[in-house]
Amino acid sequence: SSSRIAGLGTTIFAEMSVLAARTGAVNLGQGFPDTDGPTEVVERAVEALRGGRNQYAPGTGVPELRAAIAAHQQRFYGLVVDPDTEVAVTTGATEAIASALLGLVDPGDEVIALEPYYDSYVAMLQMSGAVRRPVTLRAPDFRLPIDELRAAVTPRTTAILLNTPHNPTGSVLRPEELKAIAAIAIEHDLVVISDEVYEHLTFDGRRHVPIATLPGMAERTLTISSGGKTFSFTGWKIGWATGPARLVQAMLGAKQFLTYTSGSPLQPAIAHALGAEDAYFTDFTARLQSQRDQLCEGLREVGLEVYVPEGTYFVTTDIRPLGFDDGLDFCRSLPERAGVAAIPHQVFYDPDTHSSSRDNPGRPLVRWAFCKRPEVLREAIDRLAVLG
Ligand code: PMP
Ligand code: GLN
Repeated sequence: SSSRIAGLGTTIFAEMSVLAARTGAVNLGQGFPDTDGPTEVVERAVEALRGGRNQYAPGTGVPELRAAIAAHQQRFYGLVVDPDTEVAVTTGATEAIASALLGLVDPGDEVIALEPYYDSYVAMLQMSGAVRRPVTLRAPDFRLPIDELRAAVTPRTTAILLNTPHNPTGSVLRPEELKAIAAIAIEHDLVVISDEVYEHLTFDGRRHVPIATLPGMAERTLTISSGGKTFSFTGWKIGWATGPARLVQAMLGAKQFLTYTSGSPLQPAIAHALGAEDAYFTDFTARLQSQRDQLCEGLREVGLEVYVPEGTYFVTTDIRPLGFDDGLDFCRSLPERAGVAAIPHQVFYDPDTHSSSRDNPGRPLVRWAFCKRPEVLREAIDRLAVLG
């Protein structure tokens, strides 16, 4: 195999989901809901499948989905984007991230990203030839260390890869943090690639603020999201990016040769979903918040130290109060030991900066997904009692 993928191994999500399936464990590892999204959205996809929308979509996405994405950005954030030149549909947010990095970053360019980071970031930065500059969010509150961010910028830095709400920590960037990032990006003329797939999952009344809404940022930000998270159709892999035409064009320059276009019949269905009434979005957030509370309380009862997330589908815990210290070992044995699967934070820290697990800040941290039905969460908590 090539040096481009050297050391990347197998994604932790595949490893843990295979282990969960083999052992019959309750899977709180990989983040996917155990309930499908709205039936009427499925019906739209069925209509499209039966209605002959089965050939290639335009490379940028079907017009009604691009229009719906633009309308969504305007409705929720007041962001105005041209559906013809400033919106592109991708095969999940994953392809948007991949094609953005391939289309915007030269080998040797430095890219700053918030660590712990979603595992495809490491892989795609490596494949694009970029030099990774992680800035670490640390327990217990996972705030952005602004001075460290500023210190990470060098003359070779070209982009910041952001993620808010943040997977795996569950933190949501605050207005003053976004302002600080914006000031740095403007001062050094950096592009910001902002992964906002959990934009509709912020809790306790917090609001998601796209960094593109800050002064001077719309012209330098590519904002990425996905129908998978917001509408519970993770398997459809319909994502998108919005931003100035020059950034969208550069991303499309790569995307056209990766997949050319993304699944035609699913696009009109996601377009319909994006137009849902406000109640859909508020109910969705409320349901996930209640599941968050249930799982946080259960994990606390089990004896773990719980860092209550401000957003996303995930809660992070420290396993040391139960006498464990290595999250990777813990997660590899948890399905056999307790019949539950979870994800170790360790794998979300930069392999170059933390080559040994001893100096990995994520070593004692474990991530649990709460995008599961209350009875499933109950069952997981009951099973975890054997740890106490
Ligand atoms: N970014 C983050 C932060 C995620 O958690 C995920 C989860 N799947 C993705 C991107 C990928 O999204 P998609 O499934 O739409 O490719
Ligand atoms: N984003 C989800 C997670 O973090 C799913 C990831 C995946 O399967 N690649 O769990």
